[in-house]
Amino acid sequence: MIRINDIIDKASQYNLEDDLDIIDRAYIYSARVHDGQMRLSGEPYLSHPLEVAGILADMQLDAVSIAAGLLHDVIEDTHATEEDLEQIFGRDVVQIVAGVTKLSKLTFNSSQARQAESIRKMLLAMANDIRVILIKLADRLHNMRTLQYHKNESKKKQISKETLDIYAPIAARLGIYWIKNELENISFKYLQYNDYSRIEALVDTKKGEQEEYVEKVKIFLKEKMEKAHLDCKILGRYKNYFSIYQKMQDQNLTFEEVYDIIAFRIVLDTIPHCYEALGLVHALWKPIAKKFKDYIGIPKPNMYQSLHTTVIGPYGERMEIQIRTHEMDRVAKSGIAAHWSYKEGRQADEKISNTFAWLQNLIENQAEVRDPDEFLENVRIDLFPDEVYIFTPQGEIKSLPRGATPVDFAYLIHTEVGNQCTGAKVNGRMVPLKYNLKTSDIVEIITSKNHHPSKDWLNFVKTVKARSRIRQWIKSQEKERSMSLGREMCEKAFRKEGLNFHALLKSDTMMEIAEQFGFKAIDDLIVSVGYGKITALQLVRKFEPRPDEKETSESLLGKIIGRVRKKKAASGVMVKGIDDILVRFGKCCNPVPGDTITGYITRGFGVTVHRSNCVNALKMNPERRIDVQWNEDSSETFPVKLRISSFDRVGLLAAIAMSISKQSANILSLNTKTRDNGTVDSLIVIAVENTGHLERVLSSLKKIKYVQEVIRMD
Ligand code: MN
Repeated sequence: MIRINDIIDKASQYNLEDDLDIIDRAYIYSARVHDGQMRLSGEPYLSHPLEVAGILADMQLDAVSIAAGLLHDVIEDTHATEEDLEQIFGRDVVQIVAGVTKLSKLTFNSSQARQAESIRKMLLAMANDIRVILIKLADRLHNMRTLQYHKNESKKKQISKETLDIYAPIAARLGIYWIKNELENISFKYLQYNDYSRIEALVDTKKGEQEEYVEKVKIFLKEKMEKAHLDCKILGRYKNYFSIYQKMQDQNLTFEEVYDIIAFRIVLDTIPHCYEALGLVHALWKPIAKKFKDYIGIPKPNMYQSLHTTVIGPYGERMEIQIRTHEMDRVAKSGIAAHWSYKEGRQADEKISNTFAWLQNLIENQAEVRDPDEFLENVRIDLFPDEVYIFTPQGEIKSLPRGATPVDFAYLIHTEVGNQCTGAKVNGRMVPLKYNLKTSDIVEIITSKNHHPSKDWLNFVKTVKARSRIRQWIKSQEKERSMSLGREMCEKAFRKEGLNFHALLKSDTMMEIAEQFGFKAIDDLIVSVGYGKITALQLVRKFEPRPDEKETSESLLGKIIGRVRKKKAASGVMVKGIDDILVRFGKCCNPVPGDTITGYITRGFGVTVHRSNCVNALKMNPERRIDVQWNEDSSETFPVKLRISSFDRVGLLAAIAMSISKQSANILSLNTKTRDNGTVDSLIVIAVENTGHLERVLSSLKKIKYVQEVIRMD
């Protein structure tokens, strides 16, 4: 078990500025709160944070990271609180530990494996400090190193799968390849034990001769370098079993055919020395052209730098050789984190923007980047997380731009979900629709069938999809409204000129006019009348007969309408010039033929007929008034309300009924009300043919004994 002094020693070797005292204090605190807890291995729990801190020191991270590593499980597993930590160790440490704790609470099930990329992005986005991820990687590495103590086999596999899918790629993306390799190797062992042990055995059988070979090559290279006055350090190492296995699978090779299972690394002082060394290597052994990569000239997006070359070695075998400076070697230990400065916020910002400028420069000047968009996208996500990653209630991960709202999420799911979105729950609690979603939020959308998008949503949605779908809906609504308004306006304008808009609507002439105005469909023409872009009068003019044809306007109208007016309007009312329009009678005044009447165009396309002196009719907009007349030929009957006041006498109702019946009118309803003073009010609705008929009924009623007054009501 690593001791705290070893860690402090390691840290003091590379870390000359930091106050290492915080590491000591974190150790003492961690030892106290974890006291009595055990690992599955039977060791005291403290061994875990110590090992994690040791890995962080191997990564050459700052003192705050190592202290946070020692404390990374205390909030989760002990009685320690964030407040305690903040008081003792300050804001930086507590924020990092809180971040690690937050990540630990996320669990991914197997159905999400296909979403590995999203999960990786989410983890990166959730960590607002890159050190959170680095500690998480160190934590995972130590847990993998001690995975054998887990009793549950399927749990071991699940953890290994997660490590291979999520954590190893994150380590690679951050440029910490040594962690990536080790994570892959251990995962490989648990996931495919047979393949792993086969390769392990094969490597073992060759180990003796390989070691001799490695030594020979190292000595040979060292001599050549010294002759050229290149001071260097040379390392030979085995590639990890997983990458050997992958190579065998991908290129369909046997183990014997995989030659470059050993890789050499030459570490020098300066970049010019690196290129000199490269020239030397290429002069000694023939390089394989496609295998040469200049990551010094063109660093990887994670800023990894090295020269990689594969050559045909002294025995005709392939040898991979990496050449880099000591500085690059140091950076490779901590990956991208080496480029961050934690000391002051400002400095870090500057560094990031410098990095970004450098990357942009790189993209603009290097034609060799295979897919610049993808390249930039990856860089953007890794370095400048401006996306949030959220869960559906089913546990699926979706990514949205930072600042996105539940409405954006709803439209991401489906347009209908968006259109019918009435509310949202985030982590089980109702939130306003303009709530800003945060990474790891679980979002549930509440919909209602009859709900519609609101124009206000445009003020806060962030995604293009939501915006365009809302606009689309509003537009279609406006179009519908304009359509019905346009129709109404046209109907009225046409009627004024004695034209039947309804009949003309589908005519070829109308289509021609639509085309004249530049529309592809008649509907669009009518909509633009509704919008007010074209006036109804402009349309009517197109149909109006020329002056010399005026005498024949009647026949022309007939021609345009395409049919002769029907013999009789069913309703008993003719609307001027038109015979097939919906006519209703005002319930307020019950007009009968013979009454002077006026028509009003209603919103429902039809015409309502009132008596001209009806109070309701007088209140209506004169713009909507239209001339109507009774159809003389009609044989229909119409309801009329009467009030008969009389003295209360036996046989009164019989007399009234008899009188009405004698005039061939029907009683539709009858109500009587007896008053205190001995009089009776009868409210009667009768059906009559016209005013003449009504007059006869009225005078007949007035002749009845005891009847005082007969009034037509309105
Ligand atoms: Mn841990």
